[in-house]
Amino acid sequence: MGQIIAIANQKGGVGKTTTAVNLSAWLSLLGCKVLLTDIDPQGNATSGVGVNKDALEYSVYDLLLGNVETGLVKIKNILDKLDIIPSSIELAGAEIEMVDIKEREYLLRNILIKEKGKYDYIIIDCPPSLGLLTINALTAAESVIVPLQCEYYALEGLGQLMNTINLVQQGLNKELVIKGVVLTMFDGRTNLSIQVVDEVKKYFKDKVFRSIIPRNVRLSEAPSHGKPVMLYDRRSRGAELYQELAREVMGIE
Ligand code: ADP
Ligand code: MG
Repeated sequence: MGQIIAIANQKGGVGKTTTAVNLSAWLSLLGCKVLLTDIDPQGNATSGVGVNKDALEYSVYDLLLGNVETGLVKIKNILDKLDIIPSSIELAGAEIEMVDIKEREYLLRNILIKEKGKYDYIIIDCPPSLGLLTINALTAAESVIVPLQCEYYALEGLGQLMNTINLVQQGLNKELVIKGVVLTMFDGRTNLSIQVVDEVKKYFKDKVFRSIIPRNVRLSEAPSHGKPVMLYDRRSRGAELYQELAREVMGIE
C-alpha cells in the first residue's frame, strides 16, 4: 500500500514545489511507483514536469468537485514510474465552491484512497496557504514534509502550521505524523544559513532530514525546461541532494 505524503508550508517560495517534483522524480528513478498530485492553483509542479497546464482537458479541480473519474485526469508515465494528477488555474476558485460540499475536507482523501494500491508513494504539492486545499492534503496524508528555507524568518509562521497540523490530528486525521523538516536553499558560505540549521534542529530535533538542500542555480533553472533537476543536470548538487533526500524518505540511507 502506498504512503501519502503532503509537502506543506503556508509560506510561498520555501521550496515546496521543488521538493515535491524532485522527490517524486527521484523516488520513481529509484524504482518506486509514484503519483505526484498537484493541488496548487498555480500548477508549478504540473509545469515543472513538462505538462502544459493551460492545455489540460481535466485537472484536479474537476476531480475534487466530482465531475470526472481519476483515470481521465491522471497523466501517466511522465517518467517511467511517475504519474501526475495535474492542476490548473481553475482550482483558484475551488475553495469557495467546495464550501457547500458535504465532508469537504475529505474530498482529496476519498480520491487518493482509491489510488493507494497502485503506488508506493503519493506526493501532494500544497498551495501556499492553510486553506481548505491544504486541509484536504493533510486529511488525505499519512505524513507531512515541511520545507523550511534557510533564511532569517524561517521559523516565523511555523506556529500556525503546527496548530493546523494539530487540529487535523485531533479531528480529521488521527494518523497524521510529521515525517520531517527539510531545510532548503542552504548557503554554506553564510553564517545565517548555518544559524538557521542549528535553530531548526533545536526545535525539531531528529525530525530534521539529514539531507540539506543547497541553494543551487540548476534547481531554479530546471522548471523552465519542464524537467526535474536530475534530467536537466544530473551532476548538479541539487540533483545529488534530492537523491539523498529520496533515499532518506525510503529508509535506504
Ligand atoms: P514554493 O512551492 O514553496 O512556493 P518553490 O519550490 O516554487 O517554492 O521555490 C521558489 C523559487 O525558488 C522557485 O523559483 C524555485 O525554482 C527556487 N528554488 C527552490 N529551491 C531552490 C534551491 N534549493 N536553490 C535555488 N533555487 C531554488
Ligand atoms: Mg509551489
